[in-house]
Amino acid sequence: MSKPCNVISISNQKGGVGKTTTAINLASYLAEETNKVLLIDLDPQSNATSGLGLDVTKIKTLLYDCLAKKADIKDCIYPSSVESLHLLPASQDLAAMEVELVDCVSRETQLKLLIEPLKEIYDFIVIDCPPSLSLLTVNGLTASDYVLIPVQCEFFALEGLSHLVQTLESIRLHLNPQLEIAGILLTMFDSRTTLSREVVDSARRFFKKLVFQTIVPRNVRLTEAPSHGIPILMYNPHCQGAEAYSELTQEVIERVS
Ligand code: ADP
Ligand code: MG
Repeated sequence: MSKPCNVISISNQKGGVGKTTTAINLASYLAEETNKVLLIDLDPQSNATSGLGLDVTKIKTLLYDCLAKKADIKDCIYPSSVESLHLLPASQDLAAMEVELVDCVSRETQLKLLIEPLKEIYDFIVIDCPPSLSLLTVNGLTASDYVLIPVQCEFFALEGLSHLVQTLESIRLHLNPQLEIAGILLTMFDSRTTLSREVVDSARRFFKKLVFQTIVPRNVRLTEAPSHGIPILMYNPHCQGAEAYSELTQEVIERVS
């Protein structure tokens, strides 16, 4: 029998915490390990789409079109610069889906239904969620087996996590009992500041083993790579940021298998 497909949402309702950076780089390292991987861009800001070099003005069918039932999902999947990593891209149109879904029967399970046939094709599906606890995010979490939560090593970083945890509880209770937290990932760590170290200490104190061993350092290469439309493993595979995401990928594989 083939191995099961793991669906992992990258989610935190705060913006700028490293969700998209994590989604792109985790997905590409998973693909490098000979897994077949699909990255779904569920954020209307479409940073994962542009970060993998796809120009949405040049393609006809995107995630919005399949959620709106205007296109078949298989016609909305594109190759990326990494072999075995495919992308289901987003554009600003996706923001309208938030409103359109409201009147839809089983509005929280639309993405789950859409990706069901893809689970035979892919080993991993990674979903880059928007910075909100909106209906799109609920669709992402309902379609997932796991959620990975990036947390920036900044003041107030842990604030809001209890709201996210409550949302996860509610999704587990009403929509998706299988949903598990894959882990909390500390990002943009700056070893020179006591604040960064304090955030790491309090995250480990509160969330214990849920916090990944890997901590992603603040690394300018990680911000440069998306402007070239490639992940860090192609842009600068030996920088500290690349090493961290490579290690994180091993931890994720261990936790979900
Ligand atoms: P989100 O998707 O949560 O909004 P992003 O992944 O887009 O967050 O990251 C926000 C900004 O921080 C982006 O400009 C990104 O390039 C930058 N960034 C993310 N992770 C790091 C890091 N480890 N070091 C330095 N900059 C980072
Ligand atoms: Mg993002």
